[in-house]
Amino acid sequence: MKYAIIIPDGAADEPLEELGGRTPIEAAATPNMDRVAREGRQGTARTVPEGFESGSDVATMCLLGYDPKVYHTGRAPLEAAAQQIPLSKTDWVFRCNLVTVVDGIMKDHSAGGITDGEAQKLINELARGVDAPGFEFYTGVSYRNLLVYRGEQDFDVTTKPPHEIPDEPIAKHVPRGKGSELLNRIMDRSAELYRHHDINAVRADTGHNPATQVWLWGQGHAPALPTFKERFGVAPGCMITGVDLLRGLAALLGWENLSVDGMTSFHDTNYAGQGQATADALDRYDIVFSHIEAPDEASHQADFKTKVEAIEAIDEHIVGPVLAKLRTFPEWRILVMPDHPTNIRTRKHGYAPTPFAMAGTRVRGVVAKPYSERNAAASDVKIDRGHELMEYFLRGGNL
Ligand SMILES: [Zn+2]
Repeated sequence: MKYAIIIPDGAADEPLEELGGRTPIEAAATPNMDRVAREGRQGTARTVPEGFESGSDVATMCLLGYDPKVYHTGRAPLEAAAQQIPLSKTDWVFRCNLVTVVDGIMKDHSAGGITDGEAQKLINELARGVDAPGFEFYTGVSYRNLLVYRGEQDFDVTTKPPHEIPDEPIAKHVPRGKGSELLNRIMDRSAELYRHHDINAVRADTGHNPATQVWLWGQGHAPALPTFKERFGVAPGCMITGVDLLRGLAALLGWENLSVDGMTSFHDTNYAGQGQATADALDRYDIVFSHIEAPDEASHQADFKTKVEAIEAIDEHIVGPVLAKLRTFPEWRILVMPDHPTNIRTRKHGYAPTPFAMAGTRVRGVVAKPYSERNAAASDVKIDRGHELMEYFLRGGNL
C-alpha cells in the first residue's frame, strides 16, 4: 500500500465578502482535490485539542497521529530536531523570530520574509552584542531562528506566538513568569542593536519590512516520540516541506527529509518541483508527506488573492501529479487536508475543525461533492480527537 498525505498549510478559512461569500478553497479551481473528495470521502477532524494554541506544531503532530496532550513539549524543540541540534533533558529551546514592531505594535511576525543571509547577520550580531550566559543562537530559514539555553535558570514562562498578535501592542504580550527577565533583556537588546542597522536601512529603502527585534516564544524541552513505524507499522516514510518545524517532526518520526530546489515557505515556491518529488518518492517510500506553507503565509498577510492562487497551484502541480502516480500502484490512498484553518479576516490561525478529503483503495465514497469547508462539515465523518484520523486513514476510513 502506498500512502500520500498532502498538507496545504492554513488553507481552510471562512467565507469572505471579497470572494463573493465563498471561502478561498471554494473560490479556487481545484479539480484534483475535488476528484479526491468525490471518489472518496470528506469529513472534519479537530486537530487542535482543547487548551492548545492553534499552531502547525500542535495541529501537524495531531494529524500525524500523535496526541499533542501526550507528546507536545513546544514548537521550538521540534525545529531544533530539524536542525539536529543536540539537546539534553534539561536544555530549553526558544523560537527566536525576527519581527517588525513599529511604535510598540506587532506589524509583521516574519520581518517581511527576511532572507536567510540577512537573518544570519542580524542573529550573529545579537549573539555577539548581548550578555546572556548559557544562551546559544542558531539561525534557521528566513525569520525562524532558535535560541537554546543550557544554563542553570529554570523557566516557567508564558510567551505568545507573534503571528497570533498582528497589529496588537507588544507590551501586553512580552514573556512573563519565572525567568522572563532574561528573555526580555535579550529582546530589548536586539531592538537597540537593530535600530540603526545597515540591513534595515536597505530594507526600508527597498520597501521591505525591517527586522526591528527578535521575539522569543514556543519554548520547551526535547520531546520523546515513538517512530511512525513503531506506532503504525508503516515504513519507510519521508517528508517534503520548506519549513524546519515539519522537518523536525519527520526526523523524530524516523522519516527522511527530501529537499527540492527552490522550495520555500512562500508563494514563490517551486510547486511543480515539489509535486514531481512527491510523486517520485512514492517509488521508494510507502508513506510520503508533502507540506506546503504558502497558503498559511498568505493568510497571515490577509492576502486572499495569493491564498487562492496558492491553493490552485497546489492542486494543479502537487495533488494532480501525485494522484496520477498513485494510480500506477495496485493499492494506494491519498489524504488532503490543511493542518488548521488560517483566517484572512483575523490574520490568525483558527480553531474550527479542519476539512479533509481522502480517497483510494477500500475508501468507500459517501457524499460526492467537491472539496470545501462546507461540504466536509456536512459529512457524518467528524473526528473529534484529531490524532485518531491517521489510524482512520491507514485503515481506509474504518474505525
Ligand atoms: Zn500551519
